[in-house]
Amino acid sequence: MSPLPGGSPIQTYLDALHRRLAPLREGLVAAYIPELAHADPAWFGIAIATVDGHLYSVGDTAQCATIQSISKPFVYGMALAEQGVERVLAKVGVEPTGEAFNSISLEPDTGRPLNPMINAGAIAVSAMIAGTDAADGERRIMAMFERYTGRTMAVDERVYASEARTGHRNRALAHLMRNFDIITGDPEPGLDLYFRQCSVLVDCRDLAIMGATLANDGVNPLTGARALAAPDVARVLAVMTSCGMYDFSGGWIYRVGMPAKSGVAGGIIAVLPGQMGIAVFSPPLDSRGNSVRGIRVCEEISADFALHLFHTPRATAASIIRSRSDGTELRSSRRRRRSERTRLRARGARVRLYELQGELNLGATESLVHDVLRERAAFEILILDLTRVVGLDQAAARLLSELAHDLQSHERTLLLPGGHHQPPLVHALAEVSSETGSPGPLRFTERDQALEWAEDQLLGRALQDPVTETPLIENDLCETLDANARDQLITIAERLDCVAGQVVYHPGDPADALFLIARGQFQIQSTASARIPLRCATLGPGLVFGDLPLATGRSRDHTVIALNDRAACWRIPYRAIAPELKVQLLASLATRLAERLTEGSGAGEPTPDGGDFEG
Ligand code: GLN
Repeated sequence: MSPLPGGSPIQTYLDALHRRLAPLREGLVAAYIPELAHADPAWFGIAIATVDGHLYSVGDTAQCATIQSISKPFVYGMALAEQGVERVLAKVGVEPTGEAFNSISLEPDTGRPLNPMINAGAIAVSAMIAGTDAADGERRIMAMFERYTGRTMAVDERVYASEARTGHRNRALAHLMRNFDIITGDPEPGLDLYFRQCSVLVDCRDLAIMGATLANDGVNPLTGARALAAPDVARVLAVMTSCGMYDFSGGWIYRVGMPAKSGVAGGIIAVLPGQMGIAVFSPPLDSRGNSVRGIRVCEEISADFALHLFHTPRATAASIIRSRSDGTELRSSRRRRRSERTRLRARGARVRLYELQGELNLGATESLVHDVLRERAAFEILILDLTRVVGLDQAAARLLSELAHDLQSHERTLLLPGGHHQPPLVHALAEVSSETGSPGPLRFTERDQALEWAEDQLLGRALQDPVTETPLIENDLCETLDANARDQLITIAERLDCVAGQVVYHPGDPADALFLIARGQFQIQSTASARIPLRCATLGPGLVFGDLPLATGRSRDHTVIALNDRAACWRIPYRAIAPELKVQLLASLATRLAERLTEGSGAGEPTPDGGDFEG
């Protein structure tokens, strides 16, 4: 991964932190495994990997060392995946010991080790993985590590041999567990596999990416490979939280507030779920076997960025509602006749629209639902616009589907444009609509479609009638014309009957006529910025289009197509318009333009030249 040009603030911060803590001289390099004593106490690296796959590092982050106990949570996750939670729990508990990593702490009557982060528990887990074929167990462990790091892994044979020769205490633990039948059969292969997994070589960047994979719900952010199923990730992080730092676990979660794991070679990995993995490598250890600089680095990063998991600075509830409005102030891009606009203004409050944004979780959605239910008597149609929502969890999906149920039983309609992008919601609502057979709240993908439908409901079904015709004389355009002008218009009008999809004109066409709609609907589309036509407005009977060039003299900017098979309009060629009629048409255009400006569709995103003023 290439570094950011110009340096990132995270990098600058890490550089300074590294400089400040490098002079720390406390702690001792582990020597009980003879080979580990060769480590240089000055080695010091820090790496951060984000769930977006960005990597920041400073110091000795390419220095390889053995993973040691940091292997434990990963092998534990693998056992959960291979053997299932119950079988693993039967052999190894999940209670913190408050004792040292190599403590001989087994449950008195069962001999079950208290948790998988202390040596006893980890050896029991490795024995489960070894099963009857330890060599295959090792292959699976290496493949598992490779999914987390995205590269080929190897064992440091000298460290392995050194520990295998001197690990009498671990050997004693294994035999003790054999006595209790926690380990069945020969304890040696499982013990040997444990020594080998502890001797896998990693550098600080590997550890950060492994942490980021756990932070990313089990998916390696660099390779996209899934290393562990999400429910098992939660279990692994849980034991790291309560037991990962041995007899310092309580103090660690109190101060740093992140699941973590340390190893005697000097590594520490901390996980900030949903955000990043932090790794530190520095061999000198404190009396509990945790890296001295490693603890300091994590404490400082946590404090400086307020990362403690139980520190929640933001209440999300209020921030998800971007705006609240109703149909008196809001309009779809469907153009309406003046009489209809008046009716919509009068009845518009029966349609409510909430524009939502950000992440919908339990707290935020509860607050929204509370707000909505208080208003329930006042609306008929509720539109929750989810198109700006970036995430919606299971709790939010559940509350929204309950809300859909409730509104349905009170004869209210709920529409959730944008909701089709949120899998938990689609899933939760599938049950609601399959029960009732109705099209359900997800029937519209865009807010504009939902609004248009809501307006149609308010105006009544008659509007959609594709057969009845609005006489030319009753067109909005004619309202301000005198009798003479109307007569003239009728004589020069040419009838244009359309089929669905028929193009009336294209952008660039010369503007040579205006159109008065008699029947059906016409859509004004813009293809200026995208390949996909963008709907600017939909127009129905009694409305005008193509009249703007009468004033501007410009050619067409948009595409206009007929939407129905029986759509029809009158074409009024510009060249047939006598000067006196032209003056009246321009006056009518000006009046309608002025009305539109002053009505200014409240929540206002008026299309600049859209509507029935399109060229
Ligand atoms: N292999 C080491 C041991 O069992 C691991 C201990 C550790 O990293 N805390 O002693």
